[in-house]
Amino acid sequence: MDNDFIPVNEPLLDGNERKYLLECIDTGWISSEGPFVKEFEAKFAARVGRKHGIAVCNGTAALEAAVAALGIGAGDEVIMPAFTIISCAAAVVRAGARPVLVDSDPLTWNMDVSKIEGVITPRTKAIMAVHTYGLPVDMGPVLDIAARYGLKVIEDAAEAHGLSYRDRPCGSFGELSTFSFYPNKHVTTGEGGMVVTDDDLLAERCRSLRNLCFQTGKRFVHEELGFNFRMTNLQAALGLAQLERLDNFISRKHLMGRRYTDLLSGTSGLQLPLAHTDYADNIYWVYGVVIDDSVAMAAEQLMQLLGERNIGTRPFFWPMHEQPVFRRMGLFGGESHPVAERLALRGFYIPSGLALNDAQMDVVALRLRELFS
Ligand SMILES: *Cc1c(COP(=O)(O)O)cnc(C)c1O
Repeated sequence: MDNDFIPVNEPLLDGNERKYLLECIDTGWISSEGPFVKEFEAKFAARVGRKHGIAVCNGTAALEAAVAALGIGAGDEVIMPAFTIISCAAAVVRAGARPVLVDSDPLTWNMDVSKIEGVITPRTKAIMAVHTYGLPVDMGPVLDIAARYGLKVIEDAAEAHGLSYRDRPCGSFGELSTFSFYPNKHVTTGEGGMVVTDDDLLAERCRSLRNLCFQTGKRFVHEELGFNFRMTNLQAALGLAQLERLDNFISRKHLMGRRYTDLLSGTSGLQLPLAHTDYADNIYWVYGVVIDDSVAMAAEQLMQLLGERNIGTRPFFWPMHEQPVFRRMGLFGGESHPVAERLALRGFYIPSGLALNDAQMDVVALRLRELFS
């Protein structure tokens, strides 16, 4: 690949990652039975103010385990944003339940919480709140509605390591919260995820579901169907080293967000991420931009032009109600969520990884500005 190409994401692995990985190899502990798994679970859970952490093989698996642990199944409905990754809706659909979509707020790109109450039915079992691109969902109203209607809350904090809502860490809300440790997340294990909870019983259920629902005593006799979602000691070794640096990572992300905003503000036709709301400061998990309707180009064309100029980009999420796979299953027919639809067509994100340096950010901003002038 071209040496001047600026990738959309590159992780930073220059802490204790190598040391801990070598420890796995030197001791022979590479499987999920190794000691780093428990240490990573304990330290990560503590970091987000939770009693239990259950490490799994990816963030999608974490959502599936959370949905299964709550006993969500046929006949149940789960409210979630239309604008999210397919993992959220897939976990609910695979469990035999039905995702019920709400549109996004055009400024924060998160679920518009004022739309939740309008879609509650007697079948509603849970709300899945998904923190998006660096700003959290407005959790106050979500928790309030959940309490009034007796609903469970699953918090998808896959993009929210190190993010706070008011004075509480994301990952501390609702019955269960889930994280991803994919390489573009603020803590990476290559592939990995975690469910965190304060509830002893739910934690036990997640542990069992993660490990094929083996029973103690009669190991190969199963009362329930589980999954193999186990995380290896190698992955946990990476995660532990990454977690040690999370505060530094978040400081750096704040600086990066501010730099991009300084460089790009005043570009007419380009909506930039909010630096903060009254309940949170943006941690810029990714630096997203949305092209104004007044501009003839949509995101796809602009991303292509940036690619030709050696700048990596990623499109925004494609809304759940417009997924061919769900339409074929008879889901979301005739639904419209105009904010989510518009974000999908006009939004994308620019290089935002932790290994990105200031000079590269300057080039990205310059190229983007050129295309708007
Ligand atoms: C990354 C992500 C996931 C899925 O995590 P994987 O580890 O890639 O399976 C789930 N939800 C959100 C919001 C994400 O950003």
